[in-house]
Parts: sequence; structure tokens; C-alpha cells
Amino acid sequence: MSSTITAQTETTSDQKNQVTIPVVIAVPKEHVQGEQRVAMVPEVVQKLIRSGYEIRIEHNAGTGAFYPDDMFAAAGAKIASNPSELLDGARIVLRVQPPSVADIDQLAEGSIVIGFMNPANNLGAIARMRDRKITAFALEFVPRISRAQSMDALSSQATAGGYVAAIMGADNCPKFLPMLTTAAGTIRPATVLILGAGVAGLMAIATARRLGAIVEAYDVRRAAGEQVRRLGAKFLELEINAEGQGGYARELTPEEKVKEQQMVSAAVARADIIITTAAIPGRKAPVLITKETVATMRPGAVIIDMAAESGGNCELTQAGKSIREHGVLIIGPQNLPARVPFHTSQMYAKNLQSFLTLLVGKDGAIGREFTDEILAASLLVHAGEVCHKPTRELMSGG
Ligand code: NAD
Repeated sequence: MSSTITAQTETTSDQKNQVTIPVVIAVPKEHVQGEQRVAMVPEVVQKLIRSGYEIRIEHNAGTGAFYPDDMFAAAGAKIASNPSELLDGARIVLRVQPPSVADIDQLAEGSIVIGFMNPANNLGAIARMRDRKITAFALEFVPRISRAQSMDALSSQATAGGYVAAIMGADNCPKFLPMLTTAAGTIRPATVLILGAGVAGLMAIATARRLGAIVEAYDVRRAAGEQVRRLGAKFLELEINAEGQGGYARELTPEEKVKEQQMVSAAVARADIIITTAAIPGRKAPVLITKETVATMRPGAVIIDMAAESGGNCELTQAGKSIREHGVLIIGPQNLPARVPFHTSQMYAKNLQSFLTLLVGKDGAIGREFTDEILAASLLVHAGEVCHKPTRELMSGG
């Protein structure tokens, strides 16, 4: 056997004939509750087919994102009416959400699955992929380097999350966001506070500014200040600078945490809408707004806690719920990108298209070693091994 697998087309030969079989990419319908996105869109299907792939889409996979089967069929995809029609002979499976154990059991040994894998919460599925010799790439581990920008699905989906959070804040706020001068008097603009000015936070700032609010923002990485000011928002200059490895924030010391909560409190008390996005990769989200601070807030104020799924930046947040305390509405949304599924699916599919270009290479072959920095970093499971060290340690109880 050669050291590479031909990707776009697999050529089998016997002595008389040469048969070229296109490599099949399968796109299942997502089944996690509330998931409206799909990992492929018709525009990208066309491009992949031009590159020589066969694309199969599970019946109704795009319905939630408003890409009906007939649009996929018109783009050249085959619509599969059941899992075996979808997966029989498929080499690559593209997903948004991690596969379940039942999904994995339908895959042939050696299949490649690409998508978000949320490893810490899916150890059982990862063990099954290891045992069934499935290769899995986790898009959340694509490194944040310039070369990987076009395949950075964390960023494309966080951009959407920040946008939706700002709209949700406006929708739940009892005030106008812009300043209005009307015959019935002048309305002062609302104040929006963004805590955590990474990808989602910057998009939330831009959206709240477009809606006419006064926007203030804070991040422990001082480098975020310049980006915040460029969007027309005020950056709260605090005394902490906690830029850690790879441009991410490091966890604050206990003393710094107390200092931060005190410093943030004054801005929290004057805000009409607060959008929190603060996260530290692999850890519980830091608490920035204590329940005592909530009690100092204006009645009618709204907190959209984008960190709800990783513990919440507000002490009172409950993931998946909206609660009211001291007249303040605290919303703990889950899966915000799924609320704009048309565009998030489009962006995600383009991220996957770029990833495939790297995985397959110009010569049309998939290497077996995945030595490229981006592939190596995102390779979660391969050839019966869990390749991502922190996940491996988690699985062995380390
Ligand atoms: P993230 O989702 O991990 O965290 C969101 C934000 O919360 C970050 O800006 C972080 O600094 C901030 N934060 C963490 N703890 C905090 C605290 N206690 N108080 C206030 N803020 C806190 O971040 P992200 O949006 O994924 O971005 C992480 C980094 O990666 C940023 O530096 C970003 O600019 C960078 N990035 C680079 C690229 C690229 O070069 N290709 C792409 C995307 C992001």
C-alpha cells in the first residue's frame, strides 16, 4: 500500500481496467436539540464537486438553516434518504456537533470525521472513535495562526454569537438603544457594557454601536484596548494585564479576581445591557458579576451571559434559562450561533472547505502522518489512539 490515500479520486486497478471512484463526503442531519446549522451549503457543494468529490447530504439536513434538499440537489449533491445510503463508502463525514456513540457505530473503520468535538464532555464518544479506528479532527483545536484564519470555525461562530447576543440584549431591554430627539422629548442613549473583548465581544461591541448605544468594554488582555477603541467604544482601563499563552487570557490570581470584580462593579451598575463573553480555554468561566453586584444594577437592566455553558460570568446565571433578580433579567443562552443558521452554516462550510484543502493537499492525497501544524493540533483521534494529550489525560483520569 502506498504512503498516501488518494482523496478526491481513489483509483483501483486490475490488470485490464482502471476505475476512478470519487472520494465521498457525507453530511448528516444534526440531531442535537436546538441545532439548526448544517455543515455544508450548496455554494460550497458546487466548489467541492468541481474539485472532484462526491457529496452526499442526508435528507432534510439543511432544512433548519433554510437550505432545502432541492438547493443541494441543484448544486450537484446526492440526497440520501437514510444513514446507510449516506454513509456507505463515505470517506469523510462533515458535522457541526460531535458524533454520538450511535453515529460512530455507523461509520466504517478509517473514516474521517471533522467538526466540533467538545472533547471534555464527550469522552465516551472519543473512546468509541479510538476503538473503531475512526480519525477525528476537532475544529476547536485549529490553532489561532494567520494561515489558519480561513478554517477558524471558533471565530466564525463566535462572531455570530456576539452579534446575536447584542440583538438579544436590545430585544429584552426596556429602553431604546440610540439617542432620539423627538417631539415627545429627547431620549438618552442606552449604555452597553461588554466584558471580554475577544472575537464575540468585539462583534457585540460593533453591533451595539450600530444600534446607537454608548458602549464600554473591558478585557484582561490590555492589547484588546486598541481594538475596542477602534470600534468607537470606551475601553475600561483597569490595572490588570493577564495576557497568557497564545494570545489567550491567563487565569487571574485570587487577589486579581477580587480587584477585577470591584473595578468592574461601577461599570456594571451604570449599564442597561451587559454582554459577558469572558472565557479561559479549558477552564470554568471566571465570575465577573457577583450576586451582590447584580443587586446594585438598574431595574430593567439585562445581562446576556455568553459564558453560560461554561459556568457563567455572572454568579446567578443558569444555562439555558432566563431569570429575573432585583429587576435584572439574566439570560444564559446556549448555542447562539444556531440562531442565525443560514449564515453560520455558510461560514462553517467555508471553514471546512479550507480545512479540506489542507487535509487533502494539491496532489489530491491525504497524508497518514498529519505533520502540518494545523492538522497535528486538531487531530483528536487517529489509528486507534487519542492524539490530543489533554483529552488522553482526561480519559485516563489524569
Ligand atoms: P475566548 O473566547 O477564549 O475569551 C473571550 C475573551 O474573554 C478574551 O478576549 C479573553 O481575554 C477575555 N477574558 C478572559 N478572562 C477574563 C476576565 N477575567 N475578565 C475579562 N475578560 C476576560 O477568546 P477568543 O475570542 O477565542 O480570542 C482569544 C484570543 O485569540 C484573542 O487574543 C484573539 O484576538 C485571538 N484570536 C486570534 C486569531 C488569529 O490570529 N487567527 C483568531 C481569533 C482569535
